[in-house]
Amino acid sequence: MNKAMNQIPANVADISSYRADFPALHQQVSGHPLVYLDNGASTQKPQAVIDAVSEFYQHDYSNVHRGIHTLSQRATDQFEAARETVREFINAGSDKEIIFTRGTTDAINLVAHSLVRSSFQAGDEVIVSMMEHHSNIVPWQILEQELGLKLRVIPINEHGEIIYDEFLKLLNPKTKLLAITQLSNALGSLTPLKQMIADAHAAGAKVLVDGAQAVAHTVVDVQALDCDFYAFSGHKLFAPTGVGVLYGKHQLLDAMPPYQGGGEMIKVVSFSGTTYNELPHKYEAGTPNIAGVIGLAAAIKYVNAIGIPAIQDYEHQLLGYATEQLLAIDGLHLIGTAQDKASILSFQIDGIHASDLGTLLDQQGVAIRVGHHCAMPVMEFFGVDATARASLAFYNTRDDIDALVKAINKAVSMLK
Ligand SMILES: *Cc1c(COP(=O)(O)O)cnc(C)c1O
Repeated sequence: MNKAMNQIPANVADISSYRADFPALHQQVSGHPLVYLDNGASTQKPQAVIDAVSEFYQHDYSNVHRGIHTLSQRATDQFEAARETVREFINAGSDKEIIFTRGTTDAINLVAHSLVRSSFQAGDEVIVSMMEHHSNIVPWQILEQELGLKLRVIPINEHGEIIYDEFLKLLNPKTKLLAITQLSNALGSLTPLKQMIADAHAAGAKVLVDGAQAVAHTVVDVQALDCDFYAFSGHKLFAPTGVGVLYGKHQLLDAMPPYQGGGEMIKVVSFSGTTYNELPHKYEAGTPNIAGVIGLAAAIKYVNAIGIPAIQDYEHQLLGYATEQLLAIDGLHLIGTAQDKASILSFQIDGIHASDLGTLLDQQGVAIRVGHHCAMPVMEFFGVDATARASLAFYNTRDDIDALVKAINKAVSMLK
């Protein structure tokens, strides 16, 4: 590799220096500096997020929306300010359209429960793609069993791209919902979301976007996309676990029945009839993950200060470099070679099981994910039971990629 290849082009800012803000990245694992390439499973947290959560617990902690005392008001103010931060981040039209959930899975289940159970009938169809995460497959399968819904699956080609004509053929008057990922966690494929949403709407269907993997890597504008629902998790966006977001169009959220019953989501409870709270509280039963929500707002502010467009450019360069370097390894095959790709490199090496590879990489301080990545239908399509997956964040560098390649070469020489 010549020296010039190792330079980030002048027009792309090298934002990897922000890695200094992530304490967990600066440690040794198995006697080697940690190389963290498992961001698709979860991301590390910057000091700003850790501080926001810990300061909240040290000074302002209390339950929200219920007390008139000072701490409760401070907690409520921060919690509701976080909602506005999220709204702005995904460009929703109103705070009332931002529902805090436990994560993407919880958000998708909310839609499955509230929208589908209340207004879909036996024989109605839900379309997903072949490359969905299990959390955007199984909730629909449960309703297939319970309500007689029909789940239709958009096939993919050998690059891991949606076969668009086949998608169009699936649309029909019975199609009620398209539930589609923006970025495949198993393959790195970006889906042609805007066009798919327009086509689904033209057929009279609603659209739910699984943004779990996309939100840290691409600019999300729910109004420009015109999606009806958008789900994501905090923990893949440098925020704590146990917190996520469901965006939904106001009119739909307003019309749907609540998902869970309990405190917070009600106005008046009586044994002669209960009235529900207004949006967004109608969907937030029980005490929420208050510190998690505050951590999520801190993460969004942190990411905004760098800028998602800069992150996108930088990661695109890094993905290109990593792709080139990995393909130079003898017997290595990339799984997922879509034209439009981001942040994920799934691969297999002839004669080597992914889990053996993962173990040997860990012994050299390199953290990757091995397995089916909660996307078993994708594995089945490519005829494998597992892949090795390196997934990038903006704090990764070309040095990380070089360390990965070196560790793979060493593992291969030990295993062959
Ligand atoms: C991680 C992930 C999910 C599930 O997110 P949770 O945080 O586990 O609820 C869903 N879809 C995709 C594409 C993911 O990457």
